[in-house]
Amino acid sequence: MRFPAEPFKIKVVEPLRMTTQPEREQLIREAGYNVFNLPAESIYIDLLTDSGTAAMSDRQWSGLMVGDESYAGSRSYYRFEETVHAIFGFKHIIPTHQGRMAENLLFTSMVRPGDVVPNNIHFDTTRANVEHNEGIALDQVIDEAYDPKAEHPFKGNMDLRKLAETIRREGRERIPLVMLTITNNSGGGQPVSLENIRQTKLLLSRYGIPLFFDACRFAENAFFIQEREAGYQDKKISDIVREIFSYGDGCTMSAKKDGLVNIGGFIATNDDQLAEKITNLLILVEGFPTYGGLAGRDLEAMAIGLQEVLDEEYLRFRVGQVRYLGELLDNAGVPILKPIGGHAVYLNAKEFLPAIPQEQFPGQSLVVALYREYGIRAVEIGTLMFGKKDPATGKIICPELEMVRLAIPRRVYTNMQISYVAESIIELFRNRNRVRGLKLVYEAPVLRHFTARLEEMGS
Ligand SMILES: *Cc1c(COP(=O)(O)O)cnc(C)c1O
Repeated sequence: MRFPAEPFKIKVVEPLRMTTQPEREQLIREAGYNVFNLPAESIYIDLLTDSGTAAMSDRQWSGLMVGDESYAGSRSYYRFEETVHAIFGFKHIIPTHQGRMAENLLFTSMVRPGDVVPNNIHFDTTRANVEHNEGIALDQVIDEAYDPKAEHPFKGNMDLRKLAETIRREGRERIPLVMLTITNNSGGGQPVSLENIRQTKLLLSRYGIPLFFDACRFAENAFFIQEREAGYQDKKISDIVREIFSYGDGCTMSAKKDGLVNIGGFIATNDDQLAEKITNLLILVEGFPTYGGLAGRDLEAMAIGLQEVLDEEYLRFRVGQVRYLGELLDNAGVPILKPIGGHAVYLNAKEFLPAIPQEQFPGQSLVVALYREYGIRAVEIGTLMFGKKDPATGKIICPELEMVRLAIPRRVYTNMQISYVAESIIELFRNRNRVRGLKLVYEAPVLRHFTARLEEMGS
């Protein structure tokens, strides 16, 4: 196992408070067994998300000081716009305060009721924004993505047969755009190959359907292409990135991931009319197009972060640290999703807790145990997030995959802290028959996992 050496040293430290098991027992009960309701101060290692949790570099912090806060025509906007243009190649760059606003503006502008939007797998906010516009969000990833053991190098690939079938069935007029999520977050942070991107574009151009990327983890995806795809070993990350986006008509971006910032995002497109439509909406809901719901300093930090993320040393450490955690777990027999993805390790909760039926949220049960026993916060991606009630029978329809995501914030935790996480999970795996299932006592109509409240079975 390769120890992923950190290509940075620590300049500022943030103290962590240690809690006791009885304290956490009480806190998780009060939180309705939902870790979104926990005070972050009561968490030792927070692997809830890799979104907006990155540590900024000294250069980014200095960028905050030189940010230009002019309402219109800010210098920081021009720097941001030039940087995004140089990296991604798109013509219009529209800043937003985060990724879901980019999605909201894009789908509001493009999707009419009854339209179909195929994607490899929609992220939860992406699906919610398509459905909010009364569109139908279709996941068309290759079948291997649903087999947690299938060792496919590009498990995020679009299934071109399914996509072609959808276009034939629905007709071109009902498909305003196709999305590709790189890397495929909800499918385990799995990359999409350039060959698959090229073929997807080829198929869509026959019908004149635009291709948009959900680009949150574009640099990590490019790193996997360099590592795994024939012909790309000697290519620079920035060149691979340019090639990826050369096949797209635009992208949505949450810079809270590979932008290495705590807030920010954008929409990019080559389509003049679409850009105009989105810009007009932007003014209504976010702000003037040269700040888009952000401060000038945020644009500055984002521009620097988007350049730093292309550094190969950084990416080798980043993907290496995630892989290191995954391999520690795998070597101890803990069931994880394979191959190990770019930003997170996913525990296979169905196999980790085979005694808990899927209707009792084995993924969430595992999340609760990880917090209560070790002060680690993870997130469920399974029945709580994606389960639906069948309106006819009232029965819960469970998703195929029941996972717990350990998302690793960028440049935040040391390899020793990562080892602590591995040792904790391995210990819990040995004591897994002590973990109990859960039942829902409150759910909101959309994105219920954020606010749901649960109770332990038999309590
Ligand atoms: C995070 C994320 C989004 C949404 O971005 P926010 O900045 O959280 O609004 C969309 N798609 C994917 C794949 C993501 O990971």
